[in-house]
Amino acid sequence: MRILIVGGGYVGLYTALRLQRRLKRELGRGEAEIVVVSPDPYMTYQPFLPEAAAGAISPRHVVVPLRRVLEACHVLIGEVTAVDHAKRTATIATLATEESGRTEQLSYDELVFAPGSISRTLPIPGLADHGIGFKTLEEAIGLRNHVIEQMDIASSTRDPAIRDAALTFVFVGGGFAGVEALGELEDMARYAARYYHNVKPEDMKWILVEASDRILPEVGEEMGRYTVTELRRRNIDVRLETRLQSCADRVAVLSDGARFPTRTVVWTAGVKPHPVLAATDLPLNGRGRLKCTPQLTVDGVTHAWGAGDAAAVPDVTAPEPGAETAPNAQHAVRQAKVLGDNIVHALRKEPLETYAHKYVGSVASLGLHKGVAHVYGRKLKGYPAWFMHRVYHLSRVPTFNRKARVLAEWTLAGLFKREIVSLGSLEHPRAEFELAAGGKPSVDPKGSS
Ligand SMILES: Cc1cc2nc3c(=O)[nH]c(=O)nc-3n(C[C@H](O)[C@H](O)[C@H](O)COP(=O)(O)OP(=O)(O)OC[C@H]3O[C@@H](n4cnc5c(N)ncnc54)[C@H](O)[C@@H]3O)c2cc1C
Repeated sequence: MRILIVGGGYVGLYTALRLQRRLKRELGRGEAEIVVVSPDPYMTYQPFLPEAAAGAISPRHVVVPLRRVLEACHVLIGEVTAVDHAKRTATIATLATEESGRTEQLSYDELVFAPGSISRTLPIPGLADHGIGFKTLEEAIGLRNHVIEQMDIASSTRDPAIRDAALTFVFVGGGFAGVEALGELEDMARYAARYYHNVKPEDMKWILVEASDRILPEVGEEMGRYTVTELRRRNIDVRLETRLQSCADRVAVLSDGARFPTRTVVWTAGVKPHPVLAATDLPLNGRGRLKCTPQLTVDGVTHAWGAGDAAAVPDVTAPEPGAETAPNAQHAVRQAKVLGDNIVHALRKEPLETYAHKYVGSVASLGLHKGVAHVYGRKLKGYPAWFMHRVYHLSRVPTFNRKARVLAEWTLAGLFKREIVSLGSLEHPRAEFELAAGGKPSVDPKGSS
């Protein structure tokens, strides 16, 4: 019997871990096989991306290597491009199939579909060319390098227009990702400015654009208002009820009429279900999420399961009918555990469990020693909230190995100065050699763009 898990994120990793533990005997005897298909050989602990961008955690420690933790599973690096569930077959593209031009078909008995979400963008002029998201490790590290590089550009030019655009950073979307990314990067850049003789923190413009009248809805209204006040106190220009209308020609034009020449537009205005869902014969709701039951089976379909950002799971704890669980890690992790258990129940012909979890609130970091939290009814601000954020995520990041490494990094960071170097050239390892070999480098060997 083969269980195919599509996605190696929160749901994929935790479901596989649960199944690995519960089906130990069957796996040992070869009676069950778990195959995890993921484009990356690691699970990304997304709540640590803002700290990775600020340089507080090394990129390697933000990810969990799938092969190491899923020892009893078969990890296949590739992307599922289509699923024909009626025939119990998935089409998979791997690096090998890309080279050969052929695709691979994998048959299965049980399907766990958890490809997560992607950035929800709008057709805004210039966004596709100049915007950057904040969902992956590559984006977080790329943004860190980019911000430091802008400071280098500003420091090395006498042209006020170039300098001004380099030192203007626009973030669109006031949810978790946008607020934490902006809070951490502004804090890092403010610190880094002390090493530039001609760039001062007050020369930089950090702008947060949010379409609704509040930010960080995850921490409640009062803490959201506190976050606005705190960010403004740090000279961050928070613009509520405002939209980005264009960023063509490297000028961010806002709905309130403001125009900011800028080389940095970070798009964190929400997520939408992964488009691969449309390449399946599974039922989707109006917003493209996989229709699931509170038992995490796919609605009306046998032998198919879903959870996480990609799935519309009824929230049985919500008073209003038709509510779905929100796309966040709090639900994804807990759903994965129920999902793993329910697959085992189904195989043993036992009744399935219902997923019921009441959102307990959230913690968010706004930079070193700064934070905001609203968890289990308790509201915290500043240092206590930031400390709670660290304790909470340290307890949540998977594996003891990662916990130890992250803790070691935080401890060392408390003893030494912050890292403020841009390693943008790592993204173009062949550029220097192309130049040496007499060719025309496709990019600047020093990595500037
Ligand atoms: C910056 C940031 C900070 C966050 N902070 C918090 C927080 O503090 N608290 C909180 O509760 N939530 C937070 N979240 C949200 C949380 O990370 C997500 O809700 C969670 O990751 C959802 O889990 P998932 O398994 O559904 O998707 P993911 O974890 O995104 O996993 C999906 C996986 O599927 C893979 N995949 C995609 N397409 C395919 C395909 N075709 N074939 C095979 N595999 C595929 C992807 O590569 C990925 O590995 C944050 C998110 C971000 C971006």
